[in-house]
Amino acid sequence: MSRFLSSRLSRLGTYVPGEQPQDRQYIKLNTNESPYPPAPLTEEKVREALWQLHLYPDPDCRALTKALAEYNAVLPEQILCANGSDDILSYIFLAFGDAKRGFSFPDITYGFYQVYGDFYSVPYRKIPLREDFSLAPEDYFALDSGIILANPNAQTGLALELKQIAAIAEKNPDQLVVVDEAYVDFGGESAAALLPEYDNILVVRTFSKSRSLAGGRLGYAIAGKELIVDLNTVKYSINPYNVNRMTQAAGIAALQEDGYYVDCCKRIMSTRESTKKALQALGMEVTDSKANFLLAHHASIEGEALYRSLKERGILVRHFKDQRIRDWIRISIGTEKQMARLVAEIGAILE
Ligand SMILES: *Cc1c(COP(=O)(O)O)cnc(C)c1O
Repeated sequence: MSRFLSSRLSRLGTYVPGEQPQDRQYIKLNTNESPYPPAPLTEEKVREALWQLHLYPDPDCRALTKALAEYNAVLPEQILCANGSDDILSYIFLAFGDAKRGFSFPDITYGFYQVYGDFYSVPYRKIPLREDFSLAPEDYFALDSGIILANPNAQTGLALELKQIAAIAEKNPDQLVVVDEAYVDFGGESAAALLPEYDNILVVRTFSKSRSLAGGRLGYAIAGKELIVDLNTVKYSINPYNVNRMTQAAGIAALQEDGYYVDCCKRIMSTRESTKKALQALGMEVTDSKANFLLAHHASIEGEALYRSLKERGILVRHFKDQRIRDWIRISIGTEKQMARLVAEIGAILE
């Protein structure tokens, strides 16, 4: 670090993204991207947008917002687009957190919640998941902070039922309940259905996982109009042009070719289930994931050792150092072929 870095920043940890080594070709199963490319129309729409790159994008993303509103059966005033859902999460901490009003979230979940809490000096409390990694809704009843839940949850893949989220919103009428639905298209139920009943729910979505657009950076919020106004206050104080022209075009194209992505998600879910069975047959314990990844471990090998052996064999998976999951690895679901290779390599490593 330079001698100019603020003392506040020099003390903070940052989010650590999954590695992207360039030394050789890997089967990349470490960042929960889709193994399938964007649908055909994307190229044409993005190409059209290229010829308007001399002009700023629409800061309100009106065409995309309208399409998203129709897709989700809400009003355009209930949608806000941003540069990935990380951007939305950052706005949430800025808009609704301060030194007095913090957030609670599970001890095992998406790592960025903690990073934003530290970065924006918003206090947070980590509520331990149960022994089996499931979340006890009662632990979130009548809290004195906002709540952030990834559903399905990051790292574990376990999903809450809508009635459990409704119960949490019900028991915290004066707190914001953020539901991060990065993985909802792989078998979860969207809390967007609860919005008419609960004005304290804010849903966060991304095109990165189920819409094959991780490289495009597109996320959005769905909530009551007032919450969206608040998020816009942050957006218009930082960078109103947060979604570039090509990405707005790609997002609209993705909604037009929804069937393609629904098929991709079905394939990924079916590959997930077959991979899960194959790993169990090797003696691994695997969580009941409703996401595009599996969390797995084997009693005879440490998580880090398994991660390293797989990397040596050309397969990248994710290993986390958090105490409770340090003996597990998180495996993104790739193509059938990639997963067959993964299972074969794990089998060979365990022998
Ligand atoms: C991947 C992920 C995100 C970030 O998604 P982007 O839209 O790519 O920024 C947010 N939350 C969870 C739980 C995720 O897994």
